[in-house]
Amino acid sequence: MSIKRLTLFGGDPEFSRTLHVGTPNIGDTKRFLTRVENLLNRRVLTNRGPLVRELESRMTELLSVKHCVTMSNGTAALEIATRALNFKGNAIVPALTFVATAHALEWQRVRPIFADIMPTTHHLDPRWIRRLATSLTSGVIPVNLWGRTVDIDAVVAEATMRDLAVVFDSSHAFGCTYKGKPVGGFGDAEIFSFHATKFVNTFEGGAVTTNDDALAERIRLMQNFGFADRDEVIHVGINGKMNEVQAAMGLTSVEAMKGFISHNHENYCAYLEGLRYLDGINLIEYDAAERNNYQYIVIEVDDVVTGLHRDQLMQVLHTEGVDARRYFYPGCHRMEPYRSRPKPNGQDLKLTDEMLARVLTLPTGTAVTTGDIRRVVALMQRIHERRNDISRKLAKNDRTTRLTNSRR
Ligand SMILES: *Cc1c(COP(=O)(O)O)cnc(C)c1O
Repeated sequence: MSIKRLTLFGGDPEFSRTLHVGTPNIGDTKRFLTRVENLLNRRVLTNRGPLVRELESRMTELLSVKHCVTMSNGTAALEIATRALNFKGNAIVPALTFVATAHALEWQRVRPIFADIMPTTHHLDPRWIRRLATSLTSGVIPVNLWGRTVDIDAVVAEATMRDLAVVFDSSHAFGCTYKGKPVGGFGDAEIFSFHATKFVNTFEGGAVTTNDDALAERIRLMQNFGFADRDEVIHVGINGKMNEVQAAMGLTSVEAMKGFISHNHENYCAYLEGLRYLDGINLIEYDAAERNNYQYIVIEVDDVVTGLHRDQLMQVLHTEGVDARRYFYPGCHRMEPYRSRPKPNGQDLKLTDEMLARVLTLPTGTAVTTGDIRRVVALMQRIHERRNDISRKLAKNDRTTRLTNSRR
């Protein structure tokens, strides 16, 4: 292969239109537009209209759970669920997650305490619950990252022993299973995000699911200003309602789910096949015995084996029109206001930090064809083949930049 084919060495980018991580899955546009037209004619735009009811009922079926309360977004779902469960003092969360998991607590003046992960799964290590829980701890928010579930039995056992509430952040895990059972009915409650980048989307949106009747009732009240009836407010509340256009998108998205999964699965298989022989680049695998939505293509780059750091690989991919992302770099514990606080038990989150230096997510979803993926993996094979030249060239560029900057 001529190295000149790489943009870094003067070639043209592989993709003239950039491939992104998290381009929305849309579903059947006509069905969505019909729903929108009908809702406009009905003039019911929000306040738990027929589309929101229909979506909630579809979701309780899909997730085999008693209650589904849709929300304006996933962060509101986290805030309302944890508040309804009386989270106070502090709560244990993994640092390897989207910052909203921590912010939802902090916003309510509940202090997030960050736990380390199990490197094999990227999930909260249940042993850290034991290590971090104090008399001030009220709950745990494990995150079903990448749609793979945490060791739910172990986490729930550790939490129950200490009387801690458990809310799963299942933002990534709609349509996934644990031991054959759909994600949605575990712990005290689970939350989902239907943000545009998520597997099923409602533009913005979210939900809390639970099998606890009293909790579901409290959550419904809190989500709608505490209204029990037209003139009767019986609880403090906020506005966390999903509107009818969001629900129209949600229904359209849910109808198309099977198609999304098979498309994502094909893409995943193309990545698996193409990246298999690249030493030091490991695609995280999904348990074939469980259902997954395959919405995340996550690789770990071992710079010692490849001789190329994750950031160098990312830089080269960017020049070629592949917008690979460092989810969730640099980790919640290295973002404000958490960064400035003392570490939990004075300990570093060593495994989280190591993982955050290695993880890279690659484009997939229904906007990316399997043909695109074949080109991405061929590109990565070229990069891998020329990794030594690339590493040298990037180091030289860095030196030049530093020199130019110092002359300024
Ligand atoms: C997307 C996401 C959220 C936040 O959801 P929004 O709907 O964007 O508020 C929370 N946690 C995780 C893990 C997420 O990926």
